[in-house]
Amino acid sequence: MSKKTALITGISGQDGAYLAQFLLSKKYKIIGTDRRSARGNNWRLNRLGILNKIIYEEMELGELYEIQKIFKKYRFDEVYNLAAQSFVATSFNSPLNTSNITGLGVLRILETIKSINKKIKFYQASSSEMFGKITEERQNENTSLNPQSPYAISKVFGHYITDNYRKSYNMFAVSGILFNHESPLRGEEFVTRKIILGLIKILNGDLKYLELGNIYAKRDWGYAKEYVEAMWKMLQQKKPKDFVISTGKTYDIKHFINLSTNYLGLKTKWIGKGINEKLINLKNSKIIIKINPQLFRPSEVNVLKGNSSLARSKLGWTPKTNLKKLVKIMIDEEIKYYKK
Ligand code: NDP
Ligand code: GDP
Repeated sequence: MSKKTALITGISGQDGAYLAQFLLSKKYKIIGTDRRSARGNNWRLNRLGILNKIIYEEMELGELYEIQKIFKKYRFDEVYNLAAQSFVATSFNSPLNTSNITGLGVLRILETIKSINKKIKFYQASSSEMFGKITEERQNENTSLNPQSPYAISKVFGHYITDNYRKSYNMFAVSGILFNHESPLRGEEFVTRKIILGLIKILNGDLKYLELGNIYAKRDWGYAKEYVEAMWKMLQQKKPKDFVISTGKTYDIKHFINLSTNYLGLKTKWIGKGINEKLINLKNSKIIIKINPQLFRPSEVNVLKGNSSLARSKLGWTPKTNLKKLVKIMIDEEIKYYKK
């Protein structure tokens, strides 16, 4: 069989990098795209040692013409749409851009596939944020969506339009509803990496204290490297179907902080309540973490907990890394690359 060709949008992001690494191990030819950036954001592909193994192209998701150009240049077997304005907090300040990229961007790709080659298999990166204010204790593929941010609402659009193109045009178009997944390659603005990087900066004398928002929100956190394998498995199924990918365990941010300080060997104590709650370093009595009310979101998702039974039975996918191990992986690598 000839080599398969895959398009990964959002190649410079966390999942784009891990998915590219995984597909390369399966001998795929990979075209990776993101928007033009003056910052040059290849550090993830560089760290994985795969920057020169993919073909890089610019493709702004806001521009239909740019998408069509790439689809005319290459013959894709599989398309993984990972590009998005992916940060919930930013979506409240940039709701129009978020809707255009995270929502309408999906439609631009689907329209292109529909007009160029309906045989291309399409994966959409849906999100557990779509469940929002949850209506069931554990969320699966049939749980009602109740989004609470412009990001989540845009993802709901992407989710339903993917479903609609699958049904209307007989396309192999599926969504993976992925719960939060983290790694040393996670963006610094997301809470797990922010906490770990912040604590290491404090230990190195490069930061006085870390400011956080709602530390009582709970998330179902898994390891990104394992989650990208599920994306690929979904496109290898006989029939197109959506799947929830999660660990089924949920913890609050405070628990994540405690695991991190423990692993770093810090002796700490929580004092105060509400916005006055603080984490103190018992060694020198200094504050390590403070609450900044400005970091609270206008509308919060308090708890998410997935039920990935379908993925376990149909895809043979199971999460292998628990939160304690994930914290260790993230901290070890953060220390290794700190200031390099
Ligand atoms: P990242 O934020 O790390 O990566 C997003 C990617 O999209 C980056 O390559 C970014 O480029 C690119 N991008 C942003 N805007 C545009 C645009 N206008 N045109 C083209 N490309 C653009 O996200 P993750 O890798 O963590 O997540 C991958 C996908 O999965 C996203 O769609 C996310 O919303 C979704 N998801 C993620 C979850 C998680 O826990 N990680 C959970 C559920 C869903 P640049 O580098 O220039 O910003
Ligand atoms: P999300 O689940 O996609 O929004 O992932 P994040 O990592 O951005 O946020 C997870 C949870 O952590 C949310 O409930 C946030 O409100 C909460 N949180 C608390 N403090 C912070 C903070 O300083 N930064 C971020 N990003 N999230 C925070």
